[in-house]
Amino acid sequence: MLEYDREHILHPYAPSNPSLNMTFVKSAKGVYLELEDGKKIMDGMSSWWSVIHGYNVESLNNAAIEQIGKVSHVMFGGITHEPAIKLAQKLIEITDTSLERVFFSDSGSVAVEVALKMAFQYWSSQGNTQKSKILAFSKGYHGDTFGAMSVCDPVTGMHSAFEGVLHKNIFAQAPACMFGEQWDEKHIQDFKIKLQENHTHIAAVILEPVVQGAGGMRIYSPEFLKRVRELCSEYDVLLILDEIATGFGRTGKLFAYEHAGIAPDILCVGKAITGGYMSLAATLTTKKVMQGVEANGNVLMHGPTFMANPLACAVANASVELLLNSPWEERVHNIQTQLHKELTKCEELSIVKEVRTLGAIGVVELNEEVDLGFMTPEFIKEGVW
Ligand code: PMP
Repeated sequence: MLEYDREHILHPYAPSNPSLNMTFVKSAKGVYLELEDGKKIMDGMSSWWSVIHGYNVESLNNAAIEQIGKVSHVMFGGITHEPAIKLAQKLIEITDTSLERVFFSDSGSVAVEVALKMAFQYWSSQGNTQKSKILAFSKGYHGDTFGAMSVCDPVTGMHSAFEGVLHKNIFAQAPACMFGEQWDEKHIQDFKIKLQENHTHIAAVILEPVVQGAGGMRIYSPEFLKRVRELCSEYDVLLILDEIATGFGRTGKLFAYEHAGIAPDILCVGKAITGGYMSLAATLTTKKVMQGVEANGNVLMHGPTFMANPLACAVANASVELLLNSPWEERVHNIQTQLHKELTKCEELSIVKEVRTLGAIGVVELNEEVDLGFMTPEFIKEGVW
């Protein structure tokens, strides 16, 4: 099977016919992945932050099995169902009170595409066709589809590979005031200037709240986010927050924007929404934004085949319930304490640049790029993915 995989199947950001061996996972339970030879390794990556309860969770399994017996999938055009309605109710309940419209989609990247469409249509439906740019941030990451890619960091997002076909947006410097650091107004200057100079052309600002994930695992001051919110309101630009990685308790708050006591105009969630069981995402927005989108008889122009897939929604309902009925704040706090205590020791190593922790996120940044060919098997030997 591994031979076949190597010959025919593409993996994320990897060459076809890769030199690195794939790790074959047979099953998974709790925090452990079981490999081909029966060895169990601890998943330190939570399958790209999506598996918040561990693998193979009874209540999530049961939710899926029960829903399969009813209906696994049905189109959402002209049709609705209980799992979607219940999930929408839950999401509206647990996010800011201003967010009361939900669009379900099938992945985080698509949730971002939908958010961008909402922002552009909000202005164009009301007759403002000047606002054709998004103000994004260096070191940001929002997904791999074209719209999402156009708001990712131009360097790590490989914009050069798509020169000429990617929408050109405006980028502000990455948040420079790190979490816990003393705030200074100079930290917002670059963003403020870019907004002041370009706001008539900017439909929205997009940002990962408090943690810039895939673009560098940078944990920044909530004060930065607060100032971004204030400036967006001042310059009449919509604020999109991408909580796809940070949502559902990861940073110690249910949603990372709560660290700053603010709310976005548009919110993207995904990953952990189903406890990492299957692909589902949602874009939430306010009544005001939807009224703008729908001005002059327009409608939001999006409608994926698997929109609000009942099976995924049923598992998401079970996952959110399981989370909310658990002492999750205390657990995340304990994880943070342990990560901080034990990872800080790594700072003694000369190859380590910095150790950072927030909630259930632990980062060990090295001075040089990681040699995965060497590092992955070494970690597996130690029992860790
Ligand atoms: N936004 C953020 C912040 C993410 O971390 C990711 C996934 N790594 C995405 C968007 C894209 O989500 P997906 O991979 O489900 O398309």
